[in-house]
Amino acid sequence: MNKKNKVSTAKIPKILKENKFSPFAIEIVKKLKQSGFQGYLVGGCVRDSLVGIKAKDFDVSTNATPEEVRKIFRSSRIIGKRFRLVHVYSRNELIEVSTFRAHASKEDNSSGIVKDSEGKILRDNVWGTIEEDCIRRDFSINALYFDPIDNQLCDFHNGLQHIQKKILVSIGDPLIRFEEDPVRSLRAIRFSSKLNFKISNDVKEAIYQKGHLLGNISNARMFDEFCKIFLSKNALNNFNKLDSFGVLRYLVNSSDYKENSFSLRFQKAALINTDNRLKASKSVTPGFLIAALLWPRLLNASKEKGALNLRKFFRSMDRIIREQQALTAVPRKFHGYIKDIWSLQLKLETRLGHQPYKILNHPRFRAAYDFLLLREEAAGDLQGMGNWWTQFQKVNRPGKISLLKSLRESRSSPVEKKFGFLEELS
Ligand code: ATP
Ligand code: MG
Repeated sequence: MNKKNKVSTAKIPKILKENKFSPFAIEIVKKLKQSGFQGYLVGGCVRDSLVGIKAKDFDVSTNATPEEVRKIFRSSRIIGKRFRLVHVYSRNELIEVSTFRAHASKEDNSSGIVKDSEGKILRDNVWGTIEEDCIRRDFSINALYFDPIDNQLCDFHNGLQHIQKKILVSIGDPLIRFEEDPVRSLRAIRFSSKLNFKISNDVKEAIYQKGHLLGNISNARMFDEFCKIFLSKNALNNFNKLDSFGVLRYLVNSSDYKENSFSLRFQKAALINTDNRLKASKSVTPGFLIAALLWPRLLNASKEKGALNLRKFFRSMDRIIREQQALTAVPRKFHGYIKDIWSLQLKLETRLGHQPYKILNHPRFRAAYDFLLLREEAAGDLQGMGNWWTQFQKVNRPGKISLLKSLRESRSSPVEKKFGFLEELS
């Protein structure tokens, strides 16, 4: 190994030594080393620990092949085709152990690496040394290898310095690296928000120039990235950055709204709401966020003469989900959920007869009510609908009867024929 890149024990930041890495991950490194192989904690867990964030998952990297790793750990399984690695299990933890890989250069036509005509890597299973493994990682801060047994940190691309300088630097020319894997541009944006790091100029330029290649990525992978980007406590920040780099449209099929329009205010209210829920350790679901991000599109599709056309509304729902599906593979289980939230918006508005009692028991009531509050927040006021529902949940039976009575009295006709509100439909 190149000595100058191997940071000596003395220089290892204290924060790394003190960090509580998963004992199971450390045990795996230990066993690999006892079996005569190299073993390191690598990637996100080392990076996050150095920035002072509690790492959420732990990856191990080794020079043992997947078959060799499989033999060392009884509870393990080889997975993946494009990228073969080993899952090692304990009772409540799963650690990914990957074998050092060699970087695929453009001219490379060795059997383990397969690329498509645009340079995208389709299969990547050529084993290599730690130095080679390092070169194929995306950013210097993600290419730090820590051996917690012998307390050694391997840093071949100044990752430590870049962490201290709070800057995201690509390993190799980002124009080529983003061609190989366009998702790296989304990762750059995500890490810069998560860590509050600057993005180096050449990486910025590569996002602008190569962002369009995101259109070739499978919708399944894009859905994974969608979740990482928007269910991350940094949803709003990521949304704004994605927009300014011109790549938001590869993740959300409802963008490009005018500054300060209802549509944009509503989308942002939903993103802030998601961030706040995560910060308060409340549950979030991609279904709710997708319903919100696509709501402006649904309203636009249902608009007729300044009002909401019900037939268009119900007809457009499936199409709009399908169109989003082409970008990010929204799992089927969310389709019904999204449509329920949307259709309940109409029922929350009409509140006819005994319907409000039934709606309270609807399994999606809570989500639909939260959704309504966000609409109201963005629109300024939806004729006090949010407040009405807040009251209706709180009061006892006589209180509910009286709320319904005053609602009936305030209406000119028993059945409101117009849905939607001026601000939302403008
Ligand atoms: P987080 O888990 O917080 O999203 P992470 O850095 O751990 O961040 P993973 O997707 O878990 O990200 O990947 C683990 C490591 O694998 C990364 O740190 C990086 O070194 C490498 N890696 C992951 N995806 C890519 C990619 N698309 N291109 C190059 N290297 C990658
Ligand atoms: Mg990770």
